[in-house]
Amino acid sequence: MSDDNGTIWQKALEIAKSQVPESEFIMWFRLSYIGYENGTILLQANNTFLRDQFVRKYSQFMREIISSLLGMPVELSVEAQSKTIDHHIAPQVSPRKAKNNIGAEKVIEAQPGISRSARPSNLQSRYTFESFVVGENNNFAFNAAIAIADKPGSSYNPLLIYGGVGLGKTHLMHAIGNRIVDRHADFRIICVTAEEFTNEFIKTIHDRTTNDFKNKYRNVDVLLIDDIHFFQSKHGVQEELFHTFNALYDANKQLVFTCDRPAAELKDFSERLKSRFMMGLKTDLTTPSFETRAAIVRKKLELYKRHFGEDVINLIAKSIETNVRDLDSCINQIIAYAELIKVEPTFEIAQNVIKQLTNSFMPSAIEVSSIIKTVADYYKLSISDLKGKKRSKNIALARQIAMYIIRETTDYSTTEIGSEFNGRDHTTVMHSCQKIEDLIKFDASFSSLVNHLIKECKEKSSL
Ligand code: ADP
Ligand code: MG
Repeated sequence: MSDDNGTIWQKALEIAKSQVPESEFIMWFRLSYIGYENGTILLQANNTFLRDQFVRKYSQFMREIISSLLGMPVELSVEAQSKTIDHHIAPQVSPRKAKNNIGAEKVIEAQPGISRSARPSNLQSRYTFESFVVGENNNFAFNAAIAIADKPGSSYNPLLIYGGVGLGKTHLMHAIGNRIVDRHADFRIICVTAEEFTNEFIKTIHDRTTNDFKNKYRNVDVLLIDDIHFFQSKHGVQEELFHTFNALYDANKQLVFTCDRPAAELKDFSERLKSRFMMGLKTDLTTPSFETRAAIVRKKLELYKRHFGEDVINLIAKSIETNVRDLDSCINQIIAYAELIKVEPTFEIAQNVIKQLTNSFMPSAIEVSSIIKTVADYYKLSISDLKGKKRSKNIALARQIAMYIIRETTDYSTTEIGSEFNGRDHTTVMHSCQKIEDLIKFDASFSSLVNHLIKECKEKSSL
């Protein structure tokens, strides 16, 4: 049928996963991607029940996600298969995770993230120094990371890597871990996010096994903790980390942390722990220059074994200035789009994708509260009526318009919009938006009313 590999379906699944309850996702999204034909994505469910449930509950939702990813309308067609093909039905699990789930599970589960000689389960093997592009924005951090990986515990301790989102903090931290695994096979390494550290700590309190926790974390050669800003306002775990820090530091064990801000700016944070983070080497990552962005695009294409023309590479590097994560997702979307319509990624395709993306990267200029107020005022309703349960025709329409405007002009997900409106379900929000879309299509005066309201919301927000 077709040789495309369903990248766009995978991307849509990732988005869906962040928007629907986990249990729903596991239950209803077990579909396999078959291919793409004449504007329709073909999917297969392994029985009619699964197909019907998916179609009823989520096919419109997924259609919207895919259409907005591609910037063009698509249809979904789901067929049911009578004989089950097992490997087709698992929800999207990365090969790495899938591997970890087999056999190794018991060992890893007992001590998540810890290892001697084998790679710790949560070290991402793709984040290496070799796959990291060095530019003026990360040169210092990169070199410090290399020095640490070569001589853990003796060059700079602790190392704190900080900077905004998508700039390579996690990548560098994992690269340190990966190199240590490769060069110092006998080192015990733990690599966790602050959130995992916290959850594990809480669980051990609950299970009365805090001694195991202490033994585990205070007996490693290298401790890597990602996103320590997560510890803000969590005093119990801050206290525990303080003691872990001291035990490791006194024994010359290597500590590496990442944070989204300089340690001094951590809020609701124990001063003594903050001062520990600040006493070693602090390095920040900043946004890459045009040249570095172009080099990153080339590197990513090399990793993905893809070829883009120089004009496309320059266009991406010129247009996506925010961070490396956005650069990467731009490349992936261009690849997915080109694959779907089976052409080489041209300048025009890149332009199209970038236009979509840059809109979504723009911080939402319009305040949700101001949209709700504007629509309520126009219809002479109170805000609580607009958000509330009343179903009279006038109120329901005003509510649907408000939901639609929020979806069109902010980066709120349908789930987030639902919670603004008395905790409504995201499917309700989707249906509301669909209804307004249909009305706009068929009723010119309604369309100009909505445009007028959007304009008013924008004007109010810019005051
Ligand atoms: P952060 O933790 O700072 O939010 P990540 O480390 O998760 O950012 O990086 C986001 C994405 O960008 C990852 O896919 C990472 O591999 C990539 N990336 C970031 N910086 C670089 C770089 N200098 N060279 C190559 N890839 C990078
Ligand atoms: Mg990160």
